[in-house]
Amino acid sequence: MNFDLTEERQMLQDTLRRYLSDKYTTKVRNQILDSETGLSSAIWAELAELGVIGALFTEDEGGFGGKGFDISVVFEELGRAGVVEPFLETGILGGRLIAALGDDGQTAMIDEIIGGGLQLAFAHGEPTSRYDLSRVETRVSDGKIIGRKAVVVNAEAADQLIVSARESGAADDVDGMSLFLVARDAPGLTMRGYPLLAGGRAAEVTLEDTPGTRLGPEGGAFAAIEAAVAAAHVALSAEAFGAMNTATDLTRDYLMTRKQFGRPIGTFQALQHRMADLLIELEQARSAVINAAGHLEAEPRIRDLEMAAARNLIGRVGRLVAEDSIQMHGGIAMTQEYELAHIAKRIVMTDHRFGDTDYHLERFIDLSAAA
Ligand SMILES: Cc1cc2nc3c(=O)[nH]c(=O)nc-3n(C[C@H](O)[C@H](O)[C@H](O)COP(=O)(O)OP(=O)(O)OC[C@H]3O[C@@H](n4cnc5c(N)ncnc54)[C@H](O)[C@@H]3O)c2cc1C
Repeated sequence: MNFDLTEERQMLQDTLRRYLSDKYTTKVRNQILDSETGLSSAIWAELAELGVIGALFTEDEGGFGGKGFDISVVFEELGRAGVVEPFLETGILGGRLIAALGDDGQTAMIDEIIGGGLQLAFAHGEPTSRYDLSRVETRVSDGKIIGRKAVVVNAEAADQLIVSARESGAADDVDGMSLFLVARDAPGLTMRGYPLLAGGRAAEVTLEDTPGTRLGPEGGAFAAIEAAVAAAHVALSAEAFGAMNTATDLTRDYLMTRKQFGRPIGTFQALQHRMADLLIELEQARSAVINAAGHLEAEPRIRDLEMAAARNLIGRVGRLVAEDSIQMHGGIAMTQEYELAHIAKRIVMTDHRFGDTDYHLERFIDLSAAA
């Protein structure tokens, strides 16, 4: 099998890597982290111009990619540079839901998304839902939305929120769930925002008789939600893998620079073995990302099984890489001014979105048993 990137994807990777290593320095990112919005609209606009968002959509949708490998190329580079801007929220989750379910008027928004002019947030998780995608208590009554959504990433910056709400069925039914486009300043919508540990912002969102425009058929949104989250699994796996590459590069450099007992600490066998273990695990992670990206277009059960396998492996390797890199760096890894501090947080954070390592192990077992 040929695992080389196509010429277009290779160009995208090169352009993105060059841009981010020039522009997205630790200092620039720390300024973004300290800002009120938690993202840089200038960098967002420049990345949109480079085609980063367009690569996440198919040609039919107005983009020039949209496959699993397009997503993995983009997110590996975003992860390598520790980018905090909400590409997952707007480009993957929000964008895919609109592309899958929207009518002609709604899908016209995709041009704006690709151009960098529209921000989205996916308001789905609730205080009691944990990682269960089908658990939604928010409901629709007389055409208005009533409920609470938890940790809605990018909610404050979003022009539109995509809110899941139940039109029929019990709280954990797969059927009966609809999606609604809700403007951030819609009546009855309130939010309490806060910064996230590894960058970006989220909010607790309350909806009290809030109007929205339905996206897709009444009560039939669940399959599209699962498909969008599968794409998020590819993105998160690739992002964590990119960040792991940076963590191991920094660690290798440090081991060859820091001297103790008159020579670089990387010449001591105990640390060499530890570094070798990380590099072998990193190759496993690379394979997991390729496997996930290659199965995004598979039928849903196979797709979800492979996503669970990838997320479990990436979660385990990510934790090892983050913790060992910090240990081998000693105290300087704790310093916010040093790149690794942020990169390690990003790696650990990705393991808490749409299911952690343990959750994906259980999910893999359940889906395998159902075969
Ligand atoms: C200069 C430096 C060198 C280091 N070198 C190494 C090294 O060589 N090897 C290595 O493995 N690690 C090293 N470390 C990491 C360090 O040893 C600890 O891992 C790190 O400080 C976390 O310790 P802790 O979990 O006890 O939390 P702490 O740092 O003690 O505290 C964590 C947070 O909780 C707060 N807190 C603590 N106690 C209370 C309290 N009673 N009430 C309210 N808030 C509280 C603190 O203010 C802080 O915000 C180094 C750290 C530094 C800064």
